[in-house]
Order: sequence, then C-alpha cells, then structure tokens
Amino acid sequence: MIKEILVYPNPILRQQSKDVESFDSELHTLLDDMNETMIYRGGVGLAAVQVGVLLNVLIINIPVDDESNLENRDGLQLAENLIEAINPVITHKDGTQVFNEGCLSIPGYYEEITRAEHIIVEYFDRYGNKKSLEAEGFMAVAWQHEMEHLTGHVFIENLSFMKRKKFEKEWKKELKERSKKASRL
Ligand SMILES: [Zn+2]
Repeated sequence: MIKEILVYPNPILRQQSKDVESFDSELHTLLDDMNETMIYRGGVGLAAVQVGVLLNVLIINIPVDDESNLENRDGLQLAENLIEAINPVITHKDGTQVFNEGCLSIPGYYEEITRAEHIIVEYFDRYGNKKSLEAEGFMAVAWQHEMEHLTGHVFIENLSFMKRKKFEKEWKKELKERSKKASRL
C-alpha cells in the first residue's frame, strides 16, 4: 500500500527511531509498503519514520544505467538491487564527498551536502539474518542520508547557518503555496 510521506517540518521527523524486535509479518508489510511508496514517489531511499513509523528500518534502491533503453537515461531501479536494512549501524566511515541531495520529505529542494566517501554498515534483513555491506559514492550518500532520518534529523540540518536560514524562508513560502493549491481542490 502506498503511504503518505511526512513533509518537513512534521515533528515526527524529529523523533528518534527504535530497534525492531520481531521480524514478523508486520515488519514485512511495512517494508513492502515502504518500497511501493518509494517507487511511486520516485525516491532512491526511504526511512520508516518518513511514513510515520518510528522503527530503525530503511530501504535503498540505487538506479542502474539502462543502456538498452535510450528513452530512460536516468536509470532503472531493479527489484534485485533493493536493500532492506533493519537496525542498521555504520561501523566505519572515511573520506569525504560532496553530493547534491534531495529528500522525499522536502520535495523539490536540493542542496550540496558533505558526507563520508566510504562506509561499512551492519544490519539485519527482513528475516533477521545479519548482513554487512561496504559502500562508496552515491550508495554511501544514500545510506548516510537515510541513517540520519532514524536519529530524528534531516539533511538540511547539515547546511551552513546562512543556507539554512535561506532554506527555511523559501520553504515556508513553498508550504504556503502548497496549502493554497490544496484548498482549491
Ligand atoms: Zn530523506
């Protein structure tokens, strides 16, 4: 089922998520719903808190270049590339990279954020099997972005004071426009 995505500054996005304790059908439904929602909204990653569930659960699916499809140069998300991570922990970080990030909870806003270039993470899959993964580049960015959601933070908190101030001003205006549009429907 496609879920509603909480939009900044919804206070739930500021809350710390908790570890999953049972790897049951409820968790599987959450993961399936999150995947459906992420695909529907065109995201590459989603944290459970973004659909209002305060659990340490995130999904990532980095698009691959599709050489055979000239119409689609943005890449394809393949089902087999979906990562479902339960209770994830970053155990190692090194290097730095700057990437132009966006977020489904702050739709339409993009800004350059500095993060680690290379990370190692440990997590559980939906059945409770322990996994570990090494990531760099865009994949490492996506992991760090989604992990931040689980601690009650969003990517714009990494902006400089002036950029953040500018963002908050623009975002307030944007939200006003959105509610005007919504009330006309
Ligand atoms: Zn996000």
